Amino acid sequence: MVVRMRHTSGQTRSRRSHHALEATALAVCKNCGAEHRPHHMCLSCGFYKGRVVIDLLAKKKAREARLAEKRAIIRGDEASPVTEEK
Ligand SMILES: [Zn+2]
Repeated sequence: MVVRMRHTSGQTRSRRSHHALEATALAVCKNCGAEHRPHHMCLSCGFYKGRVVIDLLAKKKAREARLAEKRAIIRGDEASPVTEEK
């Protein structure tokens, strides 16, 4: 390092004084009261601007049904491999 490039510790510190992270701003959902990112859909109820954007309850139900189906298949295979329907 060339000597003329060297900065004092004060110069380094004052440059880094703007490097701190800020907490993300959050808005409160008008439908369920949970916190969500402003201008984004609420991730706990699927509402944005007072209407349902994504029906999260139906999605959750479908996912659980899918997982239950998979679990049943796994359990069936472990118990008796002949239970497969074809
Ligand atoms: Zn919500």
